[in-house]
Amino acid sequence: MTRWRFAIGTDQGLVRATNEDALHADATIAVVADGMGGHAAGEVASALAVATLVPAFHQDETVEGLVRAVQAANVAVHADARADPDHAGMGTTAIILALTAEDSGRVVPTVCNVGDSRAYQLRDGALRLLSRDHSVVEEWVRMGRLTAEEAAVHPRRHQLTRVLGVGPVVEVDVDSVAVQPGDRVLLCSDGLTNELDANRLASLASPPMPLEDAAESLVSAALEAGGHDNVSVILLEFDEVEEAARPVHRTVATAPVAEPRARAHARRRPRRVTWRAAAALLLFAGVVAGAVGVLRWYAYSSYYLAGDKGLITVYRGQPSGILWFHPRRILSTTYPVAHLRPVDRRALATTIAEPSLKAALNYATYLNHAWHLTRQSQIAATTTTTTTTTTTVAPTTTTTARRGTSG
Ligand code: MG
Repeated sequence: MTRWRFAIGTDQGLVRATNEDALHADATIAVVADGMGGHAAGEVASALAVATLVPAFHQDETVEGLVRAVQAANVAVHADARADPDHAGMGTTAIILALTAEDSGRVVPTVCNVGDSRAYQLRDGALRLLSRDHSVVEEWVRMGRLTAEEAAVHPRRHQLTRVLGVGPVVEVDVDSVAVQPGDRVLLCSDGLTNELDANRLASLASPPMPLEDAAESLVSAALEAGGHDNVSVILLEFDEVEEAARPVHRTVATAPVAEPRARAHARRRPRRVTWRAAAALLLFAGVVAGAVGVLRWYAYSSYYLAGDKGLITVYRGQPSGILWFHPRRILSTTYPVAHLRPVDRRALATTIAEPSLKAALNYATYLNHAWHLTRQSQIAATTTTTTTTTTTVAPTTTTTARRGTSG
């Protein structure tokens, strides 16, 4: 059996308008969450994370259950941030100490971390950092680009590389903690660690100072040092301990959870692109349709006469056609091509353009009439007694709007 006692302290500090830290401790889990996001969204993120995480862990008090609880908190904050524009981009850190059950039946302490809130172990007046900050400068320290002293004052020291609620999946560090009876563990937000160095933390948090007094003095000291941020601490002391049979030290990526709102949102994004593409396509189609319309108007704007099956025939369009707009046969007159003067037959063979159907028909009539007059004068010239009979045949329509080619 492993058991602890705990004391809690929090203050909004001397600069911040609200306290965006949230914290909770009971017999098997202790958590400090430091929320971030404008319009008090940080307050929502940290509170929502704690409110989701704690009951989820109590459903399954194992290491796997703890990771699932963190995953549930991540999804809850992420979904809320996407559903509410005022909460967009909000997130929270979480430093957790939990008593997790092993298969062996032992209950052992496990620390779980996302962000830059910290867990320290205190033994014999010495302080040991149990968590690893997920911040840009911490990465640089590990890479050797910065010293710990440079990192402590670096302008990017508050820039986090992992935060709960910002993405659908989050990586979580999970580590077993080896403790002895009398050991203390301090969970805190960066409002404490940015104000007090490790020696100060150790002296204020260590025995013989009672737990409650120690927690209170830590918060007070941070305020005296400037209180630039919200300050939160949970100080725990182990009365009884069991050692883990199989300690864990790993980073776990939480699995993505089906999130209908997020999926709906994801579907909307490509739709915006599609609408733009559709608009461009419509514009292009409009331009093409306009050009085709102009072309069609020009192709069928005039008429011409040509011979077809021995008759003078009226066509609409251009004799050789324009692209796929072929000339259309409008009607055949009753005037035989043979009843044309030779000069008119030659003209008809190369087609005779007319501006309208009426003009085309009038000209066909004229051609036929001209042939009759010529023929009569020829007869008159070769006979002594003449009886002139002129027959005018009105054109009659036989077909309409049938596609054909000039004859
Ligand atoms: Mg903070």
